[in-house]
Amino acid sequence: MDGVVCASCHTWLIPDSAACPACGSPVVLEGEGKTVIDHLQPNCLIHRYEGSDLLEPAAVIKVGKSNVKAATRLKEYTKPITVPKHKVFSFDQTVLSSVQALRNERTATIHRYDQMIQSHWQHLRPYNPEAPYK
Ligand SMILES: [Zn+2]
Repeated sequence: MDGVVCASCHTWLIPDSAACPACGSPVVLEGEGKTVIDHLQPNCLIHRYEGSDLLEPAAVIKVGKSNVKAATRLKEYTKPITVPKHKVFSFDQTVLSSVQALRNERTATIHRYDQMIQSHWQHLRPYNPEAPYK
């Protein structure tokens, strides 16, 4: 692990720091009094890219009037991404898993079709005016 996030102010920390340089909280890496976040704790699903059906698990950091600040990776707790409110959904593992599985299947299928089309393209020969149909 190359770093953790301060649980009170979301500053990125080196795990061996004694205290958070930004807010001064003591750094406790483990146990009940843990003061850091060391893995993403998703509590929502976000739809970030227009025209895509990708759903990403994310952690809501701040809810604004029309936007939500969220993190999809640990480092984004420090620099959250902004997503319009209507594109943030309650976390749903079943929907997420199903969408991910189908997206993977689709990618594999498209890859297979690309290869099949390519195998036919390999039969093409340069145009020859002497024998245009061969
Ligand atoms: Zn802090």
